[in-house]
Amino acid sequence: MSRAKKHFGQHFLHERSYLDRMVAAIAPQPGDRLVEIGPGPGALTLPLLAATGELTAIELDRDLIPDLRNKAASCGRLEIIEADVLSVDLSALAGDRPLRVVGNLPYYISSPILFHCLHHIDALTDMHFMLQKEVVQRMAAAPGNRIYGRLSVMLQLVCEVTQLFTVPPGAFRPPPKVDSAVVRLRPRAPDQRPDVDADSLSRVVRTAFSQRRKTLSNALSPLLSAERIAETGIDPRARAETLSPADFIRLTKAL
Ligand code: SAM
Repeated sequence: MSRAKKHFGQHFLHERSYLDRMVAAIAPQPGDRLVEIGPGPGALTLPLLAATGELTAIELDRDLIPDLRNKAASCGRLEIIEADVLSVDLSALAGDRPLRVVGNLPYYISSPILFHCLHHIDALTDMHFMLQKEVVQRMAAAPGNRIYGRLSVMLQLVCEVTQLFTVPPGAFRPPPKVDSAVVRLRPRAPDQRPDVDADSLSRVVRTAFSQRRKTLSNALSPLLSAERIAETGIDPRARAETLSPADFIRLTKAL
């Protein structure tokens, strides 16, 4: 196996039982349009490809690609995009066949990858990701929790977030320093998603959490006055971490 490159966030999953659990969680079916982010040497790629017969993999490290191509030859039709996933237009890739996106993500850019997927949410059926456990906990956190923040709000407004299981460092080579976890994201139906401008929502949420210890009226003062916040029915003395995702929609509408 190739040597893992730290700067690419390479921690290869090798423990069979966790690979099996992740594949079972994804439950690949023939005809599914699977896209894997960061296939690496292919531990997940091969069983997924065998189940669906076709898969598109996006991998930044070109040194891993020839070996992956060889291994996949007998399993099905593997398309490999040699690129940084952040530069891949997932909507264009999907065309009229929505994608199921999966991956044991490189942790150094996991949040940008999540936001990139959100940007293409209409092109996605679901997502299954292995991430740092702490990131998965933040994604699923409820209001009032100290780790509830921008990632929780932005994801929960557009997706149903389900934490599936935890994976210890020893399941990877080399082992990461942290525990990992697998999460499922299912996009909400379009009529259940926020009916506000995405950039404005993002600005409100980012600003509110930029000073999470402060009251809303202080944190949001560049955008909304205390009176305007109060008009939405939200207490301007509250702190961002106590607001529900729906509250952020009301604040965005008040902009
Ligand atoms: N899927 C393999 C596994 O489970 O063993 C590898 C997972 S490893 C944690 C992350 C993979 O993402 C590596 O293969 C790495 O080269 C690749 N990667 C890192 N940055 C990337 C990027 N920006 N775009 C696409 N792939 C990337």
